[in-house]
Amino acid sequence: MITRVSSAAAIGARGEGLGRAGKGLCPLCVGSDISAEVTQAGTGQGDLPQAGAGRVLDGKAIAVTVRAEAAKRVAALRQAGIVPGLAVVLVGDDPASQVYVRNKTRACDEVGLVHFDHRLPATTTQSELEALVDRLNADPRVHGILVQLPLPAGLDSAALLARIDPRKDVDGLLPENIGRLWSGAPRFVPCTPLGVMRLLGEAGTPLSGAHAVVIGRSALVGKPVAALLIAQNATVTLCHSHTRDLPSLVRSADIVIAAVGKPGLVVGDWIKPGATVIDVGINRLPDGRLVGDVDFEGARQRAAAITPVPGGVGPLTIAMLLHNTLAAATGT
Ligand code: NAP
Repeated sequence: MITRVSSAAAIGARGEGLGRAGKGLCPLCVGSDISAEVTQAGTGQGDLPQAGAGRVLDGKAIAVTVRAEAAKRVAALRQAGIVPGLAVVLVGDDPASQVYVRNKTRACDEVGLVHFDHRLPATTTQSELEALVDRLNADPRVHGILVQLPLPAGLDSAALLARIDPRKDVDGLLPENIGRLWSGAPRFVPCTPLGVMRLLGEAGTPLSGAHAVVIGRSALVGKPVAALLIAQNATVTLCHSHTRDLPSLVRSADIVIAAVGKPGLVVGDWIKPGATVIDVGINRLPDGRLVGDVDFEGARQRAAAITPVPGGVGPLTIAMLLHNTLAAATGT
């Protein structure tokens, strides 16, 4: 039997998430299987994997709620004369990036957030792109700037991102915003970790004093998740490819966050009974299915709550981009 968390609202949610032939990919960077995640995640309860003992956390429904909250905030801001705006820069014609950008701009449309689309040919030069970012930095209608990665070969994405005004860095990837997160004064936090925290909140998982094992230490997911959990007084073990004896660490975890990009890495019987399991990984198997990093069927027998893939963390990523853009518009 499936127990769903959160309720549906009027605004439609779209999933997102990535993966290629068993190797996980970052959805803010590449969009290889976004459209597949969108369709495979489905829209209703019957689309979720069947649950055993654990509660299945329905990321799609929670994302719908987040979007509804965003729509209300946009309406209130518009009444106060503020029209939140997001600039989206897409260079080249990578089909996956196009799908991902389309999902973002649709989400903006759904909540009434204005987006300024800059679709540029792959022949665009670094200096042309930097001049665009400078213009967007100076444009008061633009509260958030999102540069879709990867950029075509020959362009320097690090140099371009570094040029973005940190107050408009709604992806939370600039050193200033990373530093603020770790120093306990966060401004923008990357969208996927925000989604992870929202899922933990919806699960009702106690964080203070809990032992959280985060597997994966990327700047986009693992590290910011660890920072957010520490800020909530969890005791965090951050694991990576050099970690010794991952199974025994996971066995001691009240909370497991898997963000690696390896299907089946986390075995079901590693999970401590009653733990909460958040599976960030998105991997495409040779048979075409999308799966996470956790053996869902095995883990759900022991977990108190667990996210499915697709339909867990993925749908919250775009929803949290809206949240960050609204924060940028209000300076909060
Ligand atoms: P990444 O940058 O490739 O990082 C992967 C991390 O996993 C690295 O820290 C790596 O360790 C660690 N790792 C690799 N093999 C390991 C092993 N055997 N044991 C323990 N740790 C291991 O990936 P990412 O961008 O963080 O993404 C991770 C996964 O999440 C991918 O599947 C991606 O598609 C997915 N993702 C999903 C969403 C979403 O919205 N649902 C968002 C972002 C990412 P080292 O540092 O030592 O190399």
